[in-house]
Amino acid sequence: MINRRDLLKLTGLAGVSTLLGGKAFAMSSKVDESAVKGKAHVVVIGGGFGGATAAKYIKVFDKDISVTLVEPSTKYYTCPFSNTVIGGFKKLEDIEVDFSKLKDLYGVNIVHQTVVEIDAAGKTVTLDNGKKLKYDKLVVSPGISFNYSAVEGAKPEMAETLPHAWKAGPQTVLLRKQLEAMPDGGTFVMVIPPNPYRCPPGPYERASLVAWYLKNNKPKSKVLLLDAKNEFAKQKLFMEGWQALYGNMVEWVQADLGGKVVKVDPKEKIVYTSSGEKIKGDVINFIPHQKAGELVLKFGLADDKGWAQINPKTFESKNVKDIYVIGDSAATIMPKSGFSANSHGKAAAAAIVASINGKNPEDITIVNICYSLVSPDYGISVAAVYNVNEKGITAVQGAGGVSPAGMDEKFRKKEAIYAQVWYDNIVADTWGKV
Ligand SMILES: Cc1cc2nc3c(=O)[nH]c(=O)nc-3n(C[C@H](O)[C@H](O)[C@H](O)COP(=O)(O)OP(=O)(O)OC[C@H]3O[C@@H](n4cnc5c(N)ncnc54)[C@H](O)[C@@H]3O)c2cc1C
Repeated sequence: MINRRDLLKLTGLAGVSTLLGGKAFAMSSKVDESAVKGKAHVVVIGGGFGGATAAKYIKVFDKDISVTLVEPSTKYYTCPFSNTVIGGFKKLEDIEVDFSKLKDLYGVNIVHQTVVEIDAAGKTVTLDNGKKLKYDKLVVSPGISFNYSAVEGAKPEMAETLPHAWKAGPQTVLLRKQLEAMPDGGTFVMVIPPNPYRCPPGPYERASLVAWYLKNNKPKSKVLLLDAKNEFAKQKLFMEGWQALYGNMVEWVQADLGGKVVKVDPKEKIVYTSSGEKIKGDVINFIPHQKAGELVLKFGLADDKGWAQINPKTFESKNVKDIYVIGDSAATIMPKSGFSANSHGKAAAAAIVASINGKNPEDITIVNICYSLVSPDYGISVAAVYNVNEKGITAVQGAGGVSPAGMDEKFRKKEAIYAQVWYDNIVADTWGKV
């Protein structure tokens, strides 16, 4: 039997008008207007890097705007530095944040619920508990969802045996446990998706820190990377680091040379490649193909490739007025990273505050900086600067770049220290006080 909660989910899937008729549905749900105070009410969906930053900065820029952040979890685990938990030199608690500072220091109203429906015409969102929130502006930052249908045999349930660990939390712990249980001499297989996906250098950082753990604990083992691409972010620096630290323990197979996985047998822990090879792993870290978060896909915000097209100056959806899509879900030229999402959050906050106050958004410059660890004491980095104006988001030529190759241990150690400082700062800027 369908209960009310299921019904709400269904309306999320099919659209309220097709299933129920908007009027009947609206009568059965209460609109909660308790948070609607001041000049305007902004609802932010998703308390990750994009959403938390947008919520905080709207309040920083104009405290007379009321902001409600909707996020199901009371704790959020950051994907940045989650590879250090898999490598075994940090704990899950080290990458845990909560929302108390956003509430106590900035006055953001926090609601721990899931949004199941967006009604753009009525300007409301419906929560899992049946309540509706009215908004003047809506920020949508739900991260990514997975496209399992891209590989034969793949299905969401297989994450219980072949973890993706591409959303941090229980999946991170599961992959770590599997690595600990792997025999010495075993093979850790990572299946890497095609672009675009969350955190382009993430798989290679993970391979590095898995190799670091194996070298120190199970030195006869192997890390095999099966890639749907022929090149990857910071490739030269990663390969230099792998050779220096791990010899031949890490093997990367590019798509054209048999790296592309086309089929998986989760029960037998076997993957099949486009070149006809059948590979068994002791641990398989299967990172699925990716698209925008489900809300973006279900409520008309995505293009046919599965990402949200936005006005790059404001991050307002090209499809729906007064809805702003930021973070990994947005289609931009920037890499899908926590730093990018944080930058989007600030840009959207500025544009929303300007609009509510009857002003035009200003041209701005935003940044993406990304550190990766090849071992706990060996860091590498990349940075880029972007102009955001009428022409869209464009990279500033000559600004940024990757850290130099061929540097000594001391240099790499410093970059590892900067990586930790980068992490502490971005977390403080997003969820805490800066
Ligand atoms: C292994 C790994 C390492 C990484 N390392 C780095 C790094 O070093 N540096 C870096 O910059 N980036 C890194 N990233 C990328 C970074 O984690 C993401 O780019 C970033 O989290 C994107 O932010 P977001 O706000 O778009 O999504 P998220 O941070 O995923 O936040 C989305 C939030 O929305 C919530 N949500 C989803 N649906 C709903 C709904 N219906 N209702 C309410 N809430 C909802 C979710 O619960 C979640 O909290 C890494 C990623 C991985 C996987």
